[in-house]
Amino acid sequence: MTTSENQTKREQIVAEARRDQSARQKSYRERALKMFPWVCGRCGREFTGRRVRELTVHHKDHNHDNNPPDGSNWELLCIYCHDNEHAREQVAEWYQQGDSIETQSPPPDNKPFAGLADLLQKTATGSEKDQEE
Ligand SMILES: [Zn+2]
Ligand SMILES: [Zn+2]
Repeated sequence: MTTSENQTKREQIVAEARRDQSARQKSYRERALKMFPWVCGRCGREFTGRRVRELTVHHKDHNHDNNPPDGSNWELLCIYCHDNEHAREQVAEWYQQGDSIETQSPPPDNKPFAGLADLLQKTATGSEKDQEE
């Protein structure tokens, strides 16, 4: 009976899972970038060219394995707003200690393009406002 053999196997599985995850992550990001305008859903900054790498995919239900083909679980956020989004969650979690972490609430309604319409309206009305960093 060798435990080290077991461990090697487990390490392989973990490594594979990691590889899988990063491959999946890459593909849903690419899909999301094809589907949505390159605009941060929070601060409204637009991204073009190489700066697009600052745009990340946020999962609305926080389940990175939930990647519906219509993109209804995705939101494009710049790295700063994305950071903020998760920082806020962490804070919220501190206040909810004792609650099960796995509290799942379904989205209020399923309108994948509701946010998009909002965005388009925003860009149409308030164009080129503040571009400063
Ligand atoms: Zn942003
Ligand atoms: Zn996120």
